[in-house]
Amino acid sequence: MIVMKFGGSSVANGERIRHVVDIMKPELKRKPVLVLSAMGDTTDHLLEAADDALLKGVVSTDIIGRLHSKTIRELGLDPGVQRDIDPLLQELQHLLLGISMIKELTCRTKDYLVSFGERLSVRIVAAYCNAVHIKAQAMDAWETGFISDSNFSSAELLKESWDKIPQALNPILDKGILPVVTGFIAKDQQGNITTLGRGGSDRSATIIASACKAEEIQVWKDVDGILTADPRIVPEAQPVETVTYEEAAELAYFGAQVLHPWAMRPCMKSGTPVLVKNSYNPNAPGTRILSVRPEQAAPVLAITSRRNVILVDIVSTRMLGQYGFLQTVFADFAKHKISVDMVATSEVSISVTLDSIYDLEPLMADLLRIAAVEVKTSRAIVTIIGDVHRSSEILQRAFQVCAQSGIQTQMVSQGASKVNISFIVNDNQAVEVVKGLHKDFFENKQA
Ligand code: ASP
Ligand code: MG
Repeated sequence: MIVMKFGGSSVANGERIRHVVDIMKPELKRKPVLVLSAMGDTTDHLLEAADDALLKGVVSTDIIGRLHSKTIRELGLDPGVQRDIDPLLQELQHLLLGISMIKELTCRTKDYLVSFGERLSVRIVAAYCNAVHIKAQAMDAWETGFISDSNFSSAELLKESWDKIPQALNPILDKGILPVVTGFIAKDQQGNITTLGRGGSDRSATIIASACKAEEIQVWKDVDGILTADPRIVPEAQPVETVTYEEAAELAYFGAQVLHPWAMRPCMKSGTPVLVKNSYNPNAPGTRILSVRPEQAAPVLAITSRRNVILVDIVSTRMLGQYGFLQTVFADFAKHKISVDMVATSEVSISVTLDSIYDLEPLMADLLRIAAVEVKTSRAIVTIIGDVHRSSEILQRAFQVCAQSGIQTQMVSQGASKVNISFIVNDNQAVEVVKGLHKDFFENKQA
């Protein structure tokens, strides 16, 4: 069997859903399981509806109801399908009313609320498949064995799911029925609906693929796969043919928002190949993610950047030994639940980068007891994912690009994952550096 996952923009309206079914038809003989996100921006709309209920006392499912009813009409589906989804819309309405009355929105309620997006989309797509004579069954994740912990908004599946998922799906596949499964959601052991976190449907799909020992998982997006750079910065960016799971995870983390970094993990374990394709351009070859990449000539695979980060320089003011100093500093970060991205150290100083989402005051108060601290805002991390065996060549060329533009790198680190070389520049220089690196490594033929 294979798993085919389509994201929100791939099922955004009737026309897109028709297209999804066209893409899927030739694969039917490979026994696909379809994993879907909520249609278009439905998840955001659900969260907005909850805010309206909570803050303004306004209870409305109009936007959600309209999109789904319009899609049912666009697909020419039987009015019975509308009657199938009406109870869900009604339940959503009740939930919003509840939120507006108790004026409270817990993580548990939020997960229950956003689950409606995926539950609606699978019902409509399955109904359309049946209408075009593809036997299909809409399934909520918990009907396919997705049992999670109760960590609402970022739940983890329990071990038993790994056996339950194939037990639930195999009999359906054996009957020649196409399962159309909700991404993103699960239920805990008490029966509460949970979610795997925003963008979590990729993860649902890789979990199903690994648990069922799929031959392949196809992740259908709205870009031509993993690109050599962000196309909004570098219009010349090209799709990368193959990457390893490790490289894909690094790329995802450092700004290439194609696959969630966590999504790769189940496949890494099982070795299931992932194919990232563009549902808007199905003829493009896409990117294949594998355990080992075939030997390649180019030293660099892709260049990404993470904008608007904070650089913190921490210099010891005491004659602490290096182990004591590092331990104390990182204990402070842990205490304040601040996660650091890049780290560079000497015996008496540490530089780290952070996302600019944290309130640093309480951390500062602690750090200042042992160190002088300088916080530099508006920095960017530029990351080169490449062949570590050629790291000196990569560094030399990268620094030359910076030097030619008169740009000083402020911190350098070669990631422990061994595929990532990162450095810091001022945020307003990031675009120029990424463009320059892309030109040097990909657009000059000698690369
Ligand atoms: N619909 C969810 C979201 O928008 C999950 C997903 O699309 O992967 O985050
Ligand atoms: Mg979505």
